[in-house]
Amino acid sequence: MIKCPFTFRAAILEENNKPLVMREIEFPGPLQPGQVAVKLFYSGICGKQLEEINGSPGPDAFLPHLLGHEGSGEVLDIGPGVTKVKEGDVVVLHWMKGSGIQSSSPLYYYKGKRINAGWVTTFNEYAIVSENRVTPVDRKADPVVAALLGCVGTTGVGVVINEANIQPFDTVVIYGCGGVGLCAVQAARMRHPRCVIAVDLNERALTLAKEFGATHTINPSKGDPVKAVRDLTSGKGASKVIITTGHPKAIETGINTSSAPGDCIMIGNPPKGAVIPVDGTSILSKRTIRGSQGGGIVPERDIPAYFALHREGVVNLDKLVSSVFKFDQINEAIDAMRSGISGRCVVKF
Ligand SMILES: [Zn+2]
Repeated sequence: MIKCPFTFRAAILEENNKPLVMREIEFPGPLQPGQVAVKLFYSGICGKQLEEINGSPGPDAFLPHLLGHEGSGEVLDIGPGVTKVKEGDVVVLHWMKGSGIQSSSPLYYYKGKRINAGWVTTFNEYAIVSENRVTPVDRKADPVVAALLGCVGTTGVGVVINEANIQPFDTVVIYGCGGVGLCAVQAARMRHPRCVIAVDLNERALTLAKEFGATHTINPSKGDPVKAVRDLTSGKGASKVIITTGHPKAIETGINTSSAPGDCIMIGNPPKGAVIPVDGTSILSKRTIRGSQGGGIVPERDIPAYFALHREGVVNLDKLVSSVFKFDQINEAIDAMRSGISGRCVVKF
């Protein structure tokens, strides 16, 4: 049970392109229907938050606000109508909508001023989260892995399992070997295609991709990736292309490495209004291009399933973590993610 008013520290985005500001904020309470109070264990830092901090894709109308959309924690209290979790449950906090009530967004204040927050935030010691943004997991579940299953792990594995339908005769290219790409490489290997080609500008990311099961790696700074993929696929191009970056030029190149017929799936966020040129004749030859939201996961089905893949050693999520920072060091963790390190930085509460 939480005692209201409930106060805790949160790292707030007050101004774009500035470090987050640590403040003691207040939730006056009481919990509204569908709201769940959670004590955070870990939060991951996703590219989406870097974009929000940078003020992209457009001016931020919600400042000041709370951030973060992948985390793990323990349920402290539940609001009216909540049936999916109970006090003491260990949960994954995720941005993809699952079952349960979609509550009103929580009302937080700092010195009487409203601090905006969505249905889930994780850059805070505690959170009031909507029932449909939490999924219970085993109490003994690794809390770091649980946090990663809030976004990066589920997105990267989900795009392969739910969207790409990889078959043994497929040739696979994965563009971008950040957290999502590295999870996609591992999940793709599980499907035993003829090859899994990883493409990234960062050599360390390519080394990790190899360790995670990529059969070939390509660094576009060292030569034309379209030609390199054609050379590896008998001149045809790859039958499945998963593009995890939002960079328009990389998306264009990614599409051009696919065969026709072939299947391109975009999962990175391009800038708002980005126009990507596409060869029209390839579309007529059945090259398909589509997007995926969060790997198309169903949280209550896929989070426990991907946890099992991790436990069985099929998908290694531990190895994705490059550094663990204390909550007080969250701005350092954000800078580390910005510097293009391979893997994921997580924050421990
Ligand atoms: Zn994310």
